[in-house]
Formats: sequence, C-alpha cells, structure tokens
Amino acid sequence: MRLLIMGPPGAGKGTQAAVIAERLSIPAISTGDIFRASVARGTRLGLQAKGFMDAGEYVPDSLTNEMVRERLAEDDVRGGFLLDGYPRTLAQVEVLDGILAQRHTKLDRVLQLSVEVEEVVSRLLRRAEVEGRTDDTEDVIRRRLEVYAEQTAPLLELYANRGVLVQVSGDGPVEEVTERAVVALDSAR
Ligand code: ADP
Repeated sequence: MRLLIMGPPGAGKGTQAAVIAERLSIPAISTGDIFRASVARGTRLGLQAKGFMDAGEYVPDSLTNEMVRERLAEDDVRGGFLLDGYPRTLAQVEVLDGILAQRHTKLDRVLQLSVEVEEVVSRLLRRAEVEGRTDDTEDVIRRRLEVYAEQTAPLLELYANRGVLVQVSGDGPVEEVTERAVVALDSAR
C-alpha cells in the first residue's frame, strides 16, 4: 500500500505513522524527522532548513521535493510506504504525482487524522515540555497551525475528489486511534 497520513500539527501523525507502517510492513517516511536529523547532523540541507522550521514556516519546495525524490528512489519503498508530512503544498502534490506516475503507481489511500484545534495546541505544549522541540513554543505552534490551514488543509479536498481520502478521529488513546485507522483503511480497500 502507498499511503499518506495527514492532519494538523499535534494530530498524532508521527506516532500513528510509525505504528501503522509497522503493522503493514512498509517504511514510514517523515519529512519532519528527516529534516530534524539533517539539522542534528549539521548537513547543508539541515542548515538550510533550520531557520524555516524554527519559525514554523514550511521549508521551500525546492529543498523538500529533492529530498523526497531521493528517499523514494530507495529500494525499501518498492512494496509500499507511508508518507508523513509530505506533500504539504499543491506544488508538492504535483511533484509526488510525477514521481509516482513515472513508476506507474499512485497513492492508494490518504488517511486524515482529525483533532480539534484546542486539543492540538495543548498536546503540542505538553510535548514541548517533554521533548523540547524548538518549534513547539506557543507562538510558533500558532504559526504552524495557520500555515497548515492555508497551505495544507486544501489538499484534503483534492484527495477527497480523487476518492482516496479516509477520515478518522485522532481523539483518544493512541491504541484506539490506531485501531480506528487500520479498520478504516481496510474497509476502504
Ligand atoms: P508538525 O506536523 O507537527 O508541524 P513535522 O515534524 O511534520 O511536524 O514538521 C516539522 C517542520 O518540518 C515543519 O513545520 C516544516 O518546517 C518542515 N517540513 C516538514 N515537512 C515539510 C514539507 N513537506 N514541506 C515543507 N516543510 C516541511
């Protein structure tokens, strides 16, 4: 299965992506994780991305698209993958469509995790205390939510029109959300 998981920051995408990918025996590919690892290693990509991430802005498409193109050229994605955090803009959708079309494939399903705004803000503030991510301050969280609403939320309608969108509530314990997601993905097949 070729999957994408979508939802606002704090919806639990990363957590669910890891568990669901493991269940389906496919790799989870998180652009946020790849960027953070690049920042930690001090690579050129990391240096270029850091300022945008710390401000809650999207890293420019030129950097992001190339990184994803390289990742999707690796062998382990041949049997499927779960993308987390990409695409996030219409331009990225077009690039991903192109990459997949070259291989005569496409996204099978897009899983949307829905969570109320107040809930995601409080989750992210809680996470800030535990993980200390530099983009989990209140101002930056609000900016990330704004950018999501402006640039990424419109992608949901696009995928709904393509008939691949599957929506589940991201509320409640992690295991319950996973069950909901797995059942929804299964019955959508
Ligand atoms: P969240 O969904 O909680 O904002 P992520 O870990 O997915 O967290 O992303 C963290 C940051 O990494 C984003 O705010 C953005 O700066 C950058 N990023 C991740 N994916 C993309 C993408 N597809 N396009 C542009 N920037 C991205």
